[in-house]
Amino acid sequence: MKIEAVESIGVSTRTERNAADGSQDALLILIRTDTGLVGIGEADTSPWIGKAVLEAPVSGDKCQGLARQLLGESPFNVEKIWSNCFYRSYKYGRTGAALNVMSGIDMALWDLIGKAAGQPVHAVLGSTGVDSVAPYASVLFPEDPHNLADIRHKARHAVEAGFAGVKFGWGSFGYEAHHDYAMLEAAREIIGPDMPLMIDVGMRWDTQTAIERLEHLKPLAPYWVEEPCYAEEYACYRAIAEAHPWTRIVGGEQEYNRWGFRRLIDEGRVKGIQPDLARNGGITETRKVAAIAQERGVPIFLHGWSTNVLIAANLNFIAATPNCRWLEYHVGDSPLRWNLTLEQFPVENGRVRVPTGPGLGVTLNWDAVERYRIF
Ligand SMILES: [Mg+2]
Repeated sequence: MKIEAVESIGVSTRTERNAADGSQDALLILIRTDTGLVGIGEADTSPWIGKAVLEAPVSGDKCQGLARQLLGESPFNVEKIWSNCFYRSYKYGRTGAALNVMSGIDMALWDLIGKAAGQPVHAVLGSTGVDSVAPYASVLFPEDPHNLADIRHKARHAVEAGFAGVKFGWGSFGYEAHHDYAMLEAAREIIGPDMPLMIDVGMRWDTQTAIERLEHLKPLAPYWVEEPCYAEEYACYRAIAEAHPWTRIVGGEQEYNRWGFRRLIDEGRVKGIQPDLARNGGITETRKVAAIAQERGVPIFLHGWSTNVLIAANLNFIAATPNCRWLEYHVGDSPLRWNLTLEQFPVENGRVRVPTGPGLGVTLNWDAVERYRIF
């Protein structure tokens, strides 16, 4: 089996809001082979920037587009392709958009490997035997911190739909201590004392602010505190974790590759990491991150705030990775979140079933793809 073409498909709702909502647009990557099999992957970046990363002509040995690295290769050579893409983008890449696009490429390669084998990706990777995963509801705080009705409504939905926990993040959270408390209290009152309630700070605090705010929020018992500061501020993570051992300081959706995650774990002393398979270098790189975390007893809460292609990849990865916990389940209303695949992944009896079809187990819904297509 040889790769004949690498295509990018950009889709967008064209809303262009400054919200922390990655499902406003998406970049799908299709890898076509001489057997007729097509691999599907997703890169979580600006579609326009990702397209340039794929298609840029050669500017030098470590500065060129990534699609050309795949032509004529066997999709089974995932390590070779990963290394070539990393080297050929080294001057402009290593993190950010280049690694995001490498993630989509890698996801599509594993989809192809599974399809060629007639097996789901988790079986090809080596399954843990898990056939369903507990999801947690992932929602945004309202833009207006006085809108507690919105928080109560979302919290009630999380309870009634059977989620294992609920996470609120971004929006108006993190700026004013009394607003933070009131918003979190509104959620806690609805879900009760036992359901895990997570907060995503959206990188808005410095070390001392984080330490003071968490002391204030301690009575509301957040199960984890996500991204209190920038990914690179390992000393900040560590100081917060040491000041508040009663909760879990976590992060990593904006961390990159095995070297970054080793530092986040060892220097940041986080209690959980959140790599994103559509950003971090794909399944291949995140397996290496998972091994580092497993050796140190750190659980993985995969990040995922995008389409059903990423949901399917996450379910496959979780089913092949013993230290993965829960599925982040973005419950927003973007049509790109729900409509790009024919398969849906509903929450049933508090679980989401791991796909059993070959590869990632998704089929593109071309009607929806064409409706939102920008290139
Ligand atoms: Mg987050």
